[in-house]
Amino acid sequence: MSTRTPIVGGNWKMNTTAETGVALARAVAAGSGGVACEVVVYPPFPYLATVGGTLAGSDVQLGAQDLYHEPNGAFTGEVSVEMLRDVGVTVVLAGHSERRHVIGETDDLVNRKVRAALAGDLMVTLCLGETLEQREAGRTTDVVLGQLRHGLAGVAEAAMGRVVLAYEPVWAIGTGVTATPDDAETAHRAIRGALADLYNPQVAAATRIQYGGSVKPGNAAALAAGPNVDGFLVGGASLVPDDFLAITRMATAPDPAADRQPEARNA
Ligand code: PEP
Repeated sequence: MSTRTPIVGGNWKMNTTAETGVALARAVAAGSGGVACEVVVYPPFPYLATVGGTLAGSDVQLGAQDLYHEPNGAFTGEVSVEMLRDVGVTVVLAGHSERRHVIGETDDLVNRKVRAALAGDLMVTLCLGETLEQREAGRTTDVVLGQLRHGLAGVAEAAMGRVVLAYEPVWAIGTGVTATPDDAETAHRAIRGALADLYNPQVAAATRIQYGGSVKPGNAAALAAGPNVDGFLVGGASLVPDDFLAITRMATAPDPAADRQPEARNA
């Protein structure tokens, strides 16, 4: 049985207002007391400070959806690690598929962001995932492990305790299509095997790998049953407090039968 503590993140993307973000954060903070996983919310940049204030005193961590790797200077529109730390951020996403495929971030830029976050003592969640085209071409493992190797280039073993990985097949993000528990477990196992090659078996065994892609209360328990699945990165369902909280409970309840009943309404 794994000793890894599951971690569940709510990526709010470009959603919420100051008012609805605070209400959402308040509900998550109130409802997640006592859950046996780490919980993070990732509000949009303008609401980080306000949402951080709402989370104060709770166990919910404040995450940022992105960062820029330079410390300061003429980088219009960008946000540095120091700025994120200044408003209480402890975790940051790097390489989310929407940044890679909508905004055009390269593996090299993602790697710079990972290293900047770690150098600034933040925890970083490095997102990995193949497109449908890549999957259909049989390239899933190549693509995902390539992103892993690029993303972690230059990251020392000592920093790996602050790295979380998120396997998020692009074709499953925001589409309502979820990877099967077998698909997810197969990819997570391959990622863990690659970590053993890149670092060593101890790092591989200790690193948490979240699954992301249309996770809902109706599928979370079955996905969490995979021995290499260590929680979730949740988009759409993280905007609905009851759904997000149900998912946080399921991340630590790996018996698919255990949590099915309360979720029937979401199935
Ligand atoms: C995500 O934003 O990382 C994500 C997985 O989104 P969704 O849950 O909406 O598919």
